[in-house]
Amino acid sequence: MANIVIDAGHGGTDSGAVGNGIIEKDLTLKISKYMADRLKQLGANVTLTRDTDETLTPDERVKRVLNAYGNNKDVLVISNHINAGGPDTSNYEWLNLI
Ligand SMILES: [Zn+2]
Repeated sequence: MANIVIDAGHGGTDSGAVGNGIIEKDLTLKISKYMADRLKQLGANVTLTRDTDETLTPDERVKRVLNAYGNNKDVLVISNHINAGGPDTSNYEWLNLI
């Protein structure tokens, strides 16, 4: 059974991108909760780094990821962000932080 940590990007005082009536922190939380519910229905173990509109420091975010299922290679971590754009028009980015 898969162990998955879903990180809803930003939160609390950190809104992330804002535009066109969309606030990134709200959308990442909504998407993350949907993903968590669906993955649980499919049998995965899922933990969210946040399930409310709260501010997380980078250290606290990493701590929550590591505390979810331990620091091992069998944990999938998904961090949701809705990038506002930039010179590179690719619509995704890979982060290898942990
Ligand atoms: Zn973001």
